[in-house]
Amino acid sequence: MLRKTGIYVFLGLIVVFVALHLGLASEQYDPRTTGTTMLGGIAFLLMTCSIILSTRLSIFENWFGGLDRMYQVHRVIGVFAALFALVHFFGVPKELPQGADPVLNVLVPSAPLGMLWLIFLVIGLFIALNRKIRYSFWRPTHKIMGLVYVLLLGHFFTAPPIFVEQFSPSGVMLVVAGFVGILSLVYSVFGMNRRTAVTFTIEAVNALERATEVVLKPVDRSIDFQPGQFAFVEIEGNGWSEPHPFTISSAPGEDRLQFTMKVLGDWTRKVREELEPGANVKVRGPYGRFDAAHAGHKQIWLAGGIGLTPFLSKMRAMQPDDPRQIHLVYAAREMEEAIFLEELKDRAAELGNVTLVPLFSDEGNFARVDMMKQKLPDPLDSYEYFMCGPKPMVEGLTKDLKIEGVPRDKIHSEAFEFR
Ligand SMILES: Cc1cc2nc3c(=O)[nH]c(=O)nc-3n(C[C@H](O)[C@H](O)[C@H](O)COP(=O)(O)OP(=O)(O)OC[C@H]3O[C@@H](n4cnc5c(N)ncnc54)[C@H](O)[C@@H]3O)c2cc1C
Repeated sequence: MLRKTGIYVFLGLIVVFVALHLGLASEQYDPRTTGTTMLGGIAFLLMTCSIILSTRLSIFENWFGGLDRMYQVHRVIGVFAALFALVHFFGVPKELPQGADPVLNVLVPSAPLGMLWLIFLVIGLFIALNRKIRYSFWRPTHKIMGLVYVLLLGHFFTAPPIFVEQFSPSGVMLVVAGFVGILSLVYSVFGMNRRTAVTFTIEAVNALERATEVVLKPVDRSIDFQPGQFAFVEIEGNGWSEPHPFTISSAPGEDRLQFTMKVLGDWTRKVREELEPGANVKVRGPYGRFDAAHAGHKQIWLAGGIGLTPFLSKMRAMQPDDPRQIHLVYAAREMEEAIFLEELKDRAAELGNVTLVPLFSDEGNFARVDMMKQKLPDPLDSYEYFMCGPKPMVEGLTKDLKIEGVPRDKIHSEAFEFR
């Protein structure tokens, strides 16, 4: 679930900026100049917040509810930055007012830099939001957005004083934001935002129905994680390209780390067809805040297909004295595709506090809120919900649960995509 702390902090910054900009506006500027430079300043702050999120710092995971949520916010903020920048661009006076010192207030190079920034921002956003572009191509092109931010800094720091006084309170705020933004950019572009890599060796590659289980043996040490967290997996060797995120499906404390990877595209197919035991793998993490351990005692876990992986880790980690009452609804297309079903049945029987409900769509059974309402012993709003699965399933269930009066803060979901 998206946590609101981060949103409030970012909104708070914008409110302070607007209050400073409007409250302490110099009387020598007309309202149009004051208003449109304020919009430009908001675009600047939003772009800075977006860059700050790409640092992947753990504190922001706490504020936003995990890296997947941070990236969603990063994307939305980018769109709003472009909207504010467009209104700023079309609204800001293009000529200096009469009486302004033409030497002190020269528009070059601020105006062309601003225009370039806007053009690249719109192109960059078009690429960033286009899901048809392959991830391996998308990733390096997205990094160019860092240069777009540098253009923005250039535009702001060379702006004529008639439009923005860098040493007015709101201007100082933007100067500080610019320094934080550039530090964040350097941190991310040079890869300092990636958690320390821990090296593992592939011990086994097991072919399951439409998925592959990869078992990793630590070379020196393993990584500390909570059940439900994910990590970036980077296979060493030619042709393995960039790191890919996967939920850790083993339990913390086990001597092997396991990932269960659905075959979706080139990389996951290569894992299934070509990956051999003995290869070295770098794992960076953990990330994510899909945490059911600190929620209420009555929980419903809804897994769709490969969305089982976070729950698999949770089931494997659970102790027999766990006080929670859990219903695990595992929806798959058909029984053959329901990986680890036998293990889950055994584990549920062993633990005693988990009711396993397998549903197969080829038999006409789907995860549905009206069925849950009929079958669950207590009212729907007395449970806390954790979901992971295909987007339409998660969105549909969330909508229906809200209609049934389940508060939003009792519905948690993990997104298996960043863009
Ligand atoms: C937090 C998180 C947890 C995940 N956990 C699991 C899991 O436990 N099991 C599982 O099977 N899948 C999981 N996934 C999805 C998995 O990362 C993708 O299916 C995999 O990267 C696809 O790679 P591909 O080249 O084979 O497929 P493609 O067809 O290239 O990509 C399929 C989808 O994966 C995305 N993707 C591709 N490469 C990357 C990358 N390097 N980084 C981020 N996204 C990428 C693409 O945007 C696209 O939406 C998880 C994803 C996220 C974000």
